[in-house]
Amino acid sequence: MLVVRAIEDQPDKGIKKGQKFRLYIVDAHHHMGREKGHTNTPPGAYEFYAQLWFEMQRMVKDLKESDALLFEPVDVIPPTLPSKCFSSRKSWARLNHGWLVDKTIVFPFTDDYSGGEGKAASFKVSNDKIAGWTSRAPHSTRLIGFARVDPKDSLRSTNAAVRELSRAVTKLGLRGLKLHPVAQLFVEDIEDEMTLRVVRKAGELKVPIIFDTRNVRTAQRIHAMVETMRDEPKYAKAMKGLKVILAHCGMSPGNPHFHELLRDPVIYGETSTLHDQDVPVLFQTAADMLANAGFHWSEKLLFGTDFSFLSVQAVDVILHLLSRDFLGSLSDIQRILGGNALSLVGTPFRTKRMTHETPQMLTCTQKKKPARLALETILIKKITEGALTLASLDYMLPPKKTWPDLQPISAGGDNGIYFDSYFMTLRTRDDTREFIIWIKAHPNDMISCVILNDYEKAAMLSTELAQQKKHAILSTDLTSNAQLFSTPSEFVSAIEPLLG
Ligand SMILES: [Zn+2]
Repeated sequence: MLVVRAIEDQPDKGIKKGQKFRLYIVDAHHHMGREKGHTNTPPGAYEFYAQLWFEMQRMVKDLKESDALLFEPVDVIPPTLPSKCFSSRKSWARLNHGWLVDKTIVFPFTDDYSGGEGKAASFKVSNDKIAGWTSRAPHSTRLIGFARVDPKDSLRSTNAAVRELSRAVTKLGLRGLKLHPVAQLFVEDIEDEMTLRVVRKAGELKVPIIFDTRNVRTAQRIHAMVETMRDEPKYAKAMKGLKVILAHCGMSPGNPHFHELLRDPVIYGETSTLHDQDVPVLFQTAADMLANAGFHWSEKLLFGTDFSFLSVQAVDVILHLLSRDFLGSLSDIQRILGGNALSLVGTPFRTKRMTHETPQMLTCTQKKKPARLALETILIKKITEGALTLASLDYMLPPKKTWPDLQPISAGGDNGIYFDSYFMTLRTRDDTREFIIWIKAHPNDMISCVILNDYEKAAMLSTELAQQKKHAILSTDLTSNAQLFSTPSEFVSAIEPLLG
């Protein structure tokens, strides 16, 4: 998390000079794998974020001299639970750095091993590698894997790309899709049936799609494809889950035609490649052109780096958000730097390895913080020893379309991410059992823990705290299987045997 300090009083926002705030940063565009000169793996990502912080500190000196900043970056601190996980084993502890960025959405390059032949889909090996890197401790606490496919696979094997996407999401647990019309040579075929089939599947699986876009024309083609789907009843189910991110904001930060596309309820923009004067132009145009829509303009833009194609220009985006020129609030900054990306992912990690165990709910009626810390100690011990594999850690988020005002660290440092309420997806050592442990803090010093091993029910969970309607699906099961405890030690001793 990036710690920033207010440079002066901002009475209209209730902010006092010197107050510090914590920003949770998500990189929504990051490649791993190997492509000719580029190689990147999780340690490379953390090293890059450490460099980014170094570069930021260098640039801040000049900006402070010209009095351009409203908030000054002063420190980088890790979120507690992931950092505990990293420091629990010697070989992991040396990677416990680079916490300028807390979560990273990772997908393949057009790898050296991405080619498909005959009936085999392209990117199968690449997707396997992404799953390997992102769904194991300690990296699973800070990486989210997306798949990549080539819609043109269907020219040699019908539905190969759709099948690979399905496999990547339901079997590997990848939680989004990257499509690259330039690299996979389908710019002219974006509105073609073969692309539509892949996009439809992503919508049905409710995973976001990030499209590489190099110009406004490509972005418009993607939008035309969305409109086609909207008009046809056979795409109705897909439209309910469709979320499309236009990478690089079409490299058209000030183009009104690009911002017009962002008014579409399912379309978002991502900031990588934009630098220097592009950056203020993007945010100013968005604030102007997206006013009076059915959403707040800052919901539509996501921070990304496109490492390892690109490197330190991502600093320009962060520093602009902290400058006097940025028109929004700290809450807008937090959305752009992380909240929007996490909301788009939206669900905890799960795969079809899950079976149909009856969900269990255990509640401790007192001392929620010590209860949670005691439980975390046991979980981390089992993960470090290898008795359990941690496939993912997903914090709960504020209700959709809202993001709270940020609180200064002196008042708790709330930035909207619920660090005391989260989902952990775990697997047993023999890999046969996969389950979600859902820890949730309640008012009145209560904490609950749900243990869920059921794919269909897990798919209905949302990281959005207010999704009571969806979570109510569980409630019949849970009320009949609920157990109540009054001390943290009773609570934790009852959970331990259920972990397997
Ligand atoms: Zn890229």
